[in-house]
Amino acid sequence: MIPYGKQFIDSEDIKAVQSVLESDYLTTGPKVHEFEEAFASYCGIDHAVSFSSGTAALHACMAVIGVGPGDEVIVPTMTFAATANCVVYMGATPVFADVYATDLLVDVEWVKGCITSKTKAIVGVDYAGQLCDWEELAQLAREHGIWLIADACHSLGAHNKGRQAGSLADLTAFSFHPVKMITTGEGGMVTCKDPGLVEALKRFRSHGIDVNYQNRELWRYDMVGLGYNYRLSDIQCALGSSQLKKLPKFLKARKYIAQMYFEAFQGVEGIDPLIAWDFDAHSFHLFVVRVAPDNRERIFRQLQERGIGVCVHYKPVHMHSFYKQNFNTTMGMCPIAEWAYDEIISLPIHPGLSDMDVRRIIAVVKGVL
Ligand SMILES: *Cc1c(COP(=O)(O)O)cnc(C)c1O
Repeated sequence: MIPYGKQFIDSEDIKAVQSVLESDYLTTGPKVHEFEEAFASYCGIDHAVSFSSGTAALHACMAVIGVGPGDEVIVPTMTFAATANCVVYMGATPVFADVYATDLLVDVEWVKGCITSKTKAIVGVDYAGQLCDWEELAQLAREHGIWLIADACHSLGAHNKGRQAGSLADLTAFSFHPVKMITTGEGGMVTCKDPGLVEALKRFRSHGIDVNYQNRELWRYDMVGLGYNYRLSDIQCALGSSQLKKLPKFLKARKYIAQMYFEAFQGVEGIDPLIAWDFDAHSFHLFVVRVAPDNRERIFRQLQERGIGVCVHYKPVHMHSFYKQNFNTTMGMCPIAEWAYDEIISLPIHPGLSDMDVRRIIAVVKGVL
């Protein structure tokens, strides 16, 4: 079975994990700090705080900027449900923004139209691994005095004008789920510049307990707010550091596959890969193409029959029953995303795919067309 996305683990990763298992600390030990330092440095930003998942990382972003009941947070509807769920965790209301048809990135004009006196933050999602227009979003956030949050769960390694994903918003959340750019099994990270936010993120990840307790006598710790246990273990952080070293290779492998797809589908009628505005800057977490709905059905079935996994990313969040029932979202609210949902399909792309695998996938897709 060839899945649409998959982790790539080598003997270095296994050794890194094994050495933690043989050490004194399985969690909250030296590997956590090491991974955070290496990650922040890769992103070209001062701080990184690890979390037990990308969802926990997003939840923490919402918490530390003080999102609460009565607040609105603007979220693109073309994303994984967790992006919006984190707003709901805080008792606030997600306001769904539509996307551009060409790249399925959040439509900045649409975001502008959603801003009200209740808007607390804008969340941008680097869909498929391509960066949003962070300069425009940042300007909009600045003009209105609201926070800018990046959901970069797809875009570790993507960059724009020398600036890496992770350094483009007030707070940026990453995921290390096995299908993402690097993995820790489950895991996440928040990057940011502000030391005050870093303290708040660390408290939130560990029961709301004052983070400096480790520097003092353990029995004098103080819980200053309500937090969670959202920590990432040393076992996972050792894997994360080992994976991060391979990220440049992973990016190269993904680009190579994306290039094969682009070349194969160039000028072919009936299939439109999403536009990659800057091929080299894209992380290619996903390779998404648009095809007619009936062809999508056929491609889906034919690939599955051959043991090749395909997926649809995503059902727009406002179309889910939970949001329809609790936030009165309706069909027609975000027409471009709804239209895309009928046509998009994510072809396999990950560092473990061989040339032959990719050629087989291309042949099946072309056969259907
Ligand atoms: C994967 C993902 C998440 C959630 O990350 P987890 O680590 O699975 O909790 C959130 N947003 C987007 C866009 C994602 O792709």
